[in-house]
Amino acid sequence: LPPPAERVREALQATFGFSGFRGVQDQVVDRVLQGQSTLAVMPTGAGKSLTYQLPAVLLEGTCVVVSPLIALMHDQLRSARANGIRAATLTSVDADWRETLDAFRAGQLDLLYIAPERASQSAFRDLLSSTRISLFAIDEAHCVSEWGHDFRSDYRKLRPLLDAFPQVPRLALTATADHHTRKDILKQLGINDDGLIIAGFDRPNIRYAIRSQSGLDQQLQSVIEETPGAGIIYAPSRAKVEQLAEKLAKTTGRPVLPYHAGLPAEVRASNQAAFIASEDMVMVATIAFGMGIDKPDVRFVAHAGIPKSIEGYYQETGRAGRDGEPSLAIMFWSGQDFARARMRLAEVDEARQQSERQRLESLAGLIETADCRRAVLLRHFGEDPPAKCGNCDTCLEPVDVIDATTLAQKLLSA
Ligand code: ADP
Ligand code: MG
Repeated sequence: LPPPAERVREALQATFGFSGFRGVQDQVVDRVLQGQSTLAVMPTGAGKSLTYQLPAVLLEGTCVVVSPLIALMHDQLRSARANGIRAATLTSVDADWRETLDAFRAGQLDLLYIAPERASQSAFRDLLSSTRISLFAIDEAHCVSEWGHDFRSDYRKLRPLLDAFPQVPRLALTATADHHTRKDILKQLGINDDGLIIAGFDRPNIRYAIRSQSGLDQQLQSVIEETPGAGIIYAPSRAKVEQLAEKLAKTTGRPVLPYHAGLPAEVRASNQAAFIASEDMVMVATIAFGMGIDKPDVRFVAHAGIPKSIEGYYQETGRAGRDGEPSLAIMFWSGQDFARARMRLAEVDEARQQSERQRLESLAGLIETADCRRAVLLRHFGEDPPAKCGNCDTCLEPVDVIDATTLAQKLLSA
């Protein structure tokens, strides 16, 4: 029997300090507490973690959370423990496996975070049989789909584990899933079509703008100088990150740091910490930067080159303005970006080519549109937005439609 509504509200307040649910959180939590498997599509910052952490506290047994990155797991672990939730991770960098296993077997854990590759190990399945599991939460669930923008084959190993515990409900969570990806997640994870809950994707405080890349350094300098507050510039390569960070530090006089996977771990950690603490720092980064970073006052996100997809674009720009204050998302694209993307397309295996090509076409559609950017974005995510938002470049500045059309033809001719 699901816990009564007062008990749920009380735990929400007592454990998390929240006075109420946001958006569709209550619908998702409701379903989970009733034991119904669910796919929740909620934008970044909408509060997906709560939708499994609260049931984890309320339900008997342990909630097993699948998460793709060790760093993400440890962030979650810290915040869960800070709320007094009994949580642990079993990753390659954890030294306290024995304690964790003992606590788990004794039924003393609310949450256990694991990486997807763990799921396929028979020893892990046996371990789960040794105690009561309340819920399987699958975070970043788009990783299970080849249609998704971040497919990870290890996510495919989850299904046999889930099926071994048919009585345990499944909660799949993602911020970014178009129609195809959603369908596929439901299928891959064995969740009924009527278990889909979608939150609104609009971020009205973000102003969208897309420009040509010519004079990039100068344009980025202007963005930085005209936008007080912290910002992120996404660059397509490590070399470009280094080059832009060095140059912009000189030309703007703002604190500017680089972040990419080629930097030593301690440099990455200290640059990230400096950014989170700063009110005016600019981080020039590859897309390695950002997942799990909860900084509410990022005032701009700039793309110095095209993102991988509309999903990626939405996720990356979504790091701006989480506090609801006016913020800017500006992308600088070039025909060369598309040429490079098309070359990469030729390298992926045939099964993925179709979806990759479609992703690129959707992105080109967003770039070349003379219509409202926000409307194009939201329609991509299955919404039915007003024709004009009044807070993007195409709504605010007149666009040369003829240019846009020839541009589209150029981008898509492979
Ligand atoms: P997501 O995973 O969807 O990107 P998170 O779970 O990381 O989002 O939550 C984003 C932020 O929102 C966190 O700081 C979290 O504490 C906060 N939050 C979540 N739910 C609520 C709520 N009901 N009321 C207030 N703040 C909330
Ligand atoms: Mg999350």
